[in-house]
Formats: sequence, structure tokens, C-alpha cells
Amino acid sequence: MVSSVRLTSRRIDIYDYVKPPLCTSCGRIITPETRAVSFYCPNCGIAVIWRCERCRAQIAPYTCPNCGFKGP
Ligand SMILES: [Zn+2]
Ligand SMILES: [Zn+2]
Repeated sequence: MVSSVRLTSRRIDIYDYVKPPLCTSCGRIITPETRAVSFYCPNCGIAVIWRCERCRAQIAPYTCPNCGFKGP
């Protein structure tokens, strides 16, 4: 019996299942279960910055891979 599987997992914008994003601060792979955040670089607005739950809690600094902007 085929039942439609509904994934109720939280969706993260711009999440790529083929190439999972890496945390910009610590380099860990961001999993869909992670309460990670992604946002565009406040300086150049081109690169997407990812921060995992841990780095958010630690307010770890990040460096934009595009323009080198460093932010908290
Ligand atoms: Zn991290
Ligand atoms: Zn930037």
C-alpha cells in the first residue's frame, strides 16, 4: 500500500539537498534538522552566510566568502 509520505521537517530557505551548505563560521555541514540561519552578507548582499545552531549560540564570527566582510 502506497501512502503519500509527508515530510513535516522544517524547511530552510535556499537549502540545497545535493550540496548541503556549510556553516560559514565553523565549517560544519548544515543539516535540515539544524536550527541554522542563512542570510545574505550585509556588506555585499551576494554571498549567503550560514550559521549553525551552535555558532548562533556562541555568536561566533563569520567571514563572507565573497567580500571578506567579518561580522558577528
Ligand atoms: Zn557553526
Ligand atoms: Zn560579502
